[in-house]
Amino acid sequence: MRIVLLGAPGSGKGTQSERLVKRLGIPQISTGDLLRAAVAGGTELGRRAKAAMDGGRLVDDALVLGMIRERLAAADVRRGFILDGFPRNLAQAEALERLLETLRQPLDAVVQFEVDYGELVRRISGRRTCQDCCQVFNLLTSPPTGADALCPKTGAPHRLMQRPDDNEATVTERLRVYDAKTRPLIEFYRARGLLRVIDAEGEVDEVTQRLLQAIGSRGKPAAPAKAHESARGTAARRAPRALTGKRGGARPPGGKRRSRSSR
Ligand code: AMP
Repeated sequence: MRIVLLGAPGSGKGTQSERLVKRLGIPQISTGDLLRAAVAGGTELGRRAKAAMDGGRLVDDALVLGMIRERLAAADVRRGFILDGFPRNLAQAEALERLLETLRQPLDAVVQFEVDYGELVRRISGRRTCQDCCQVFNLLTSPPTGADALCPKTGAPHRLMQRPDDNEATVTERLRVYDAKTRPLIEFYRARGLLRVIDAEGEVDEVTQRLLQAIGSRGKPAAPAKAHESARGTAARRAPRALTGKRGGARPPGGKRRSRSSR
């Protein structure tokens, strides 16, 4: 299965990707993770990407596309993949479409994660990563407790750090960039009949169930979508006005919420 997860920073794409990896046995490809690894490794790619990442802007398309081309050529993606954080603008979406056509591996689904703007900021502010095993936690919603309390690499409690681009100023810029550049992909994929929209708020397990239902994988049956919600154009009708007041995937504070999973 070949899936794209679309959604604003903090909408839970990474958390849900990890669950899909376990469930479907296909790899997650996160351009953010690949770029952070390049920065940490001090590579030429990392050096060229760092300034944009620190400022909350998008890294140059050519760099990101080169990275994706290389990743999609690896053997482990033959059975499918989960793209998380890519594509991020129309040029990337078009390039991906061409690349997958060449590889004869078209996408099966694109899932848009909808979350209120205020909730996005709250989630991002609580996000922490273990410096040793790189596992991502959220101090508010999924702290390192129980079986996850100790780092599998060190055997000691996780050494948690906040991502440098999770500070307030950069988060505001990342959400603005999402609105301006990534939001148009909702219509791009809707026009291709690939778009599914899920309410990505609530318990992590609930969101996983909605996601599995949206991609047609086995999960506990979720409440059926209301008739008026399952028709085409649902997301456009209920789409929120986030930062710029345009429609898309981040609901404004107090925005109306409905649970559903629809095309
Ligand atoms: P993420 O972890 O997906 O939030 O990505 C962190 C940062 O990496 C973003 O704010 C961008 O600077 C950069 N980045 C990640 N994915 C992309 C992409 N597809 N295109 C351009 N820049 C990206």
